[in-house]
Amino acid sequence: MITLIKNAEVYAPMYLGFKDILLVHDKIGYIEDEIEAPVNFVDIEIIDAAGRLVVPGFIDSHVHIIGGGGEGSYKTRTPEITLTQATTAGITTLVGVIGTDGTTRTMSNIIAKARGLEEEGITCYVHTGSYQVPVRTLTSKIEDDLILIDKIIGVGEIAIADHRSSQPTMEELAKIASAARVGGMLSGKAGIVNVHLGDSPSKLSLIEAVVQKTDIPITQFHPTHINRNEELFISGINFAKSGGYVDFTTSTVQRFLYNGEVKCGEGLKRMLEAGVPIEQVTFTSDGQASLPEFNSNGEFIGLQVGNVSSLFSQVKEAVLKEGIPLEKALQVITSNPARILKLKDKGNIEVGKDADLVFLEKENLNIHSVIAKGKKMIENGKVLVKGTFE
Ligand code: ZN
Repeated sequence: MITLIKNAEVYAPMYLGFKDILLVHDKIGYIEDEIEAPVNFVDIEIIDAAGRLVVPGFIDSHVHIIGGGGEGSYKTRTPEITLTQATTAGITTLVGVIGTDGTTRTMSNIIAKARGLEEEGITCYVHTGSYQVPVRTLTSKIEDDLILIDKIIGVGEIAIADHRSSQPTMEELAKIASAARVGGMLSGKAGIVNVHLGDSPSKLSLIEAVVQKTDIPITQFHPTHINRNEELFISGINFAKSGGYVDFTTSTVQRFLYNGEVKCGEGLKRMLEAGVPIEQVTFTSDGQASLPEFNSNGEFIGLQVGNVSSLFSQVKEAVLKEGIPLEKALQVITSNPARILKLKDKGNIEVGKDADLVFLEKENLNIHSVIAKGKKMIENGKVLVKGTFE
């Protein structure tokens, strides 16, 4: 399968200008100023990308792929993600996490789901564990999970600073991080510890204590929901300025913003203005998580479900509303998560990397087409490949 993309204006995410890109099966084979397809050679599909920007497929590294929630009883357990929810949002790589419910949502289930999404055409990894400490792993040890199970690339989301967390101690978090670190080293994986931050005033202090009192580097942690309130956001700026990674959550509901959640585009701009290097920042959608909604009297009025489509819409807002250059804003969902999570074939448009590409309309940045591992999933807004039961 050979695909030649002509006249692409490429953001790799760095701006490369106008290029032709040759895809060979699932890889990017060549990127040149001009590539001519020979006549009477082999079957080559030619795509004219004139008027479009071609960017790397998006990486959403915190998604409840088997559903999450359940915090309002069994009926509030949220559904699994489908293939086209991801692909229509430009997402070609997912990292699945479990969340609050580590009992009915299991590692076996999430690994099977990740494999299913791979069979359907996108790339999917998972973290081991849930909110809970001790971590409920697949094999009974974090190191073994990382070293022996290909799909497992890190640990999490471990909850801290939250009434729903296991209230882990500094020592417990340090043990998790050291197991993740050693497992990551021995398997060549990131072994990152994805940490869910709640609304408690202790904020990032548990992670900061581990970094201070042990020799575990700050980069072992990937704390998420950093924009959930103003105070946490401010401590996130300091954490990032000390070299830590910070992850914004893009799924939201009106109430969260009303209660002080920092909007992603605006937050990104503030972080950059505060001197945080863009390389320290990622966005994830928290897709398929439950988002409980309350009215102005604080009464529960229903649940919404986190949506992966918020991932790129918030990046778009950062560009169109906050004036952050596209090549910068794109990094938070492409090259940054790829580097932080050691997904070496992902995140950049570069020879030898996976052929995961998103075509954007130049005038409004709307998603036009999506290619995952060399295969057209979405073309001109139309779904070409559906999930098995869609
Ligand atoms: Zn979370």
